Amino acid sequence: MSARLRVDFIACDGRGLCAEALPELIALDDWGFPLVSDRPVPSRLLPGARETVSACPLLALRLEHARDRDLRARIRDRRP
Ligand code: SF4
Repeated sequence: MSARLRVDFIACDGRGLCAEALPELIALDDWGFPLVSDRPVPSRLLPGARETVSACPLLALRLEHARDRDLRARIRDRRP
């Protein structure tokens, strides 16, 4: 199952710990906030991505799985 990295920019403090831990997938913008790809995390990098998500001190980083996206889309489509 594919997973993508997502950042909650309200929670993130932009100190860049995640980019240091997972430079293959996370870069920093000019202000130090993470830039993550919208592409699925390659399976060989999933263990590192999970570890990086767990290490985020503000719980601002998460892995979004395809089933979560599908569920969110279905809920959104039911709104009036
Ligand atoms: S580790 Fe978490 S709080 Fe720090 S920059 Fe990355 S997402 Fe933001």
